[in-house]
Amino acid sequence: MKVLVINCGSSSIKYSLYDMSNEAVLAHGMVERIGEKQSMFRHKADGRERKGECAAPDHDRAFDVLAKNLLDPEKPVIGSVGEIAAVGHRVVHGAEDFVESMRIDAKVIAQIEACAELAPLHNPPNLTGIRAAQRVFPAAAHVAVFDTAFHQTMPDYAYTYAIPYEYYEKHRIRRYGFHGTSHRFVSMEAARFLGRPYESLNQITAHLGNGCSITAVRRGKAVDNSMGLTPLEGLVMGTRSGDIDPALVAYIGELKGIDAAGVTAILNKKSGLVGVSGTSNDMRTLETEAASGSRRAMLAMQIFAYRVRKYIGAYLAVLDGADTIVFTGGIGENAVGMREMILKDMGRIGVVLDAKRNNEAIGRKAVISADDSPVVVLTIPTNEELLIARDTALIVAAR
Ligand code: ADP
Repeated sequence: MKVLVINCGSSSIKYSLYDMSNEAVLAHGMVERIGEKQSMFRHKADGRERKGECAAPDHDRAFDVLAKNLLDPEKPVIGSVGEIAAVGHRVVHGAEDFVESMRIDAKVIAQIEACAELAPLHNPPNLTGIRAAQRVFPAAAHVAVFDTAFHQTMPDYAYTYAIPYEYYEKHRIRRYGFHGTSHRFVSMEAARFLGRPYESLNQITAHLGNGCSITAVRRGKAVDNSMGLTPLEGLVMGTRSGDIDPALVAYIGELKGIDAAGVTAILNKKSGLVGVSGTSNDMRTLETEAASGSRRAMLAMQIFAYRVRKYIGAYLAVLDGADTIVFTGGIGENAVGMREMILKDMGRIGVVLDAKRNNEAIGRKAVISADDSPVVVLTIPTNEELLIARDTALIVAAR
C-alpha cells in the first residue's frame, strides 16, 4: 500500500510517500513560499534531488506541483494518482474531540474546523491541505493524525489550569500538550529497542528541536506534557520563552506600551535561546559562540539545560521513578554537550550518563547511560511522518 504523508502549513507543504510493505520512503519533498510571486519546490526520489522555482499562488496549485513531481515522466514514482491508497495528514489541534487518528469525513472536517479557534495559525492551513489533497487524490482514503491526541490520556488534575473553572467549561481552556506524534513514536521505539513491552515502562521523552516539549508516559499512556493550551508553555525553545511568571504579560505590555498580543508575539518569536543570547536560536551557533567565550550564549544554553533538568525531576516524581529518559529532536539527537549539561550529577536520583556512549550517539538509536544506571537514557531519532503513515495504513486496512 502506498501512503502519502502531508504536513501542510500556511506557506509550505512537506510530503513523504511510503511503500508500507517495507516502510520504504519512495519520495519526499516540499513546496514552499506558497502564495508568493515565486514559489520553490524540492523533490527527492531514487537518490536524485530536483529543486527549483514553481508557480504555487495557492495550496491547490501547490498540490498540483506535488502530484506532477510524483508523476514526473523522467522518473515516475507513481504511474497515476490512483496508486496512492491513502493520505495521512498532520493536524496540530484535535482538542478533546480526537483521542486517536481518524479517517476524514465531513463530520471530522467540521470538528477540525471547530478546533481552529484553539490553533488559529495551524488548523486552518491543515484543513486547506486536506481539502486540496482530497481534490488531487479523490480516490484515496484521507486520515487525520493529531499532535494533541497522544496527550488526551492526561488526568484532569494535570491538564486543568488553576483559574476560574468556567474558562475550561465554556472556552475549553486547558493544557493540551503537543508533539504527541513524536513522543508516541520515540517512546514506542525505545521500548522496542530495549526489547521490553511498551505497557511495562514508565518513560520521560524529551523532544528538543526548535520547539521543545517533554512528556511523562506511564505504562504507554501520556500523563503530562510541558506544553499547554498553546506550544508556548514549558521548556525554553529556539525563540519561545517557555514558562514565565504570567504577570509578565501585563508588566511588559505597560512598560513597552504594547498590547497582550504584542507581548505574546515577543514571547513566541523573540525569546528563548535567541532572546537571551541576542544572536541565534540555533543550538549549534550558540555552542560555537559559547566555546569562543560568549557569556550570553553560554547563559542561554545553561537556562535551556536547567529547564529540561527541572522538568525531568518533576516527571520522575510524577511517575515515581522512570525506566527510561529518551532524547529526540535536532538537539536531543545530536547535541552531545547539551545532553551532558542536562543530566550531569543526577546519580542520586538514578540517572548516570556514560560519557563515551553519549559522545558517540549522534543522530542514531543508542543507550547513553551507564550499565549500572537505574534509569536507562536513550537517544531515538524521531520520525513523525512514519508514525502518521503507520496510523493511516492501519486505519485504512481496518476498513
Ligand atoms: P524543528 O523543530 O524545526 O524540526 P530540529 O528538530 O531539526 O528542528 O532541531 C533544530 C535544532 O537542533 C537547532 O537548534 C539545531 O542547532 C539543533 N541541532 C541540530 N544538529 C545539531 C548538532 N549536531 N549539535 C547541536 N545542535 C544541533
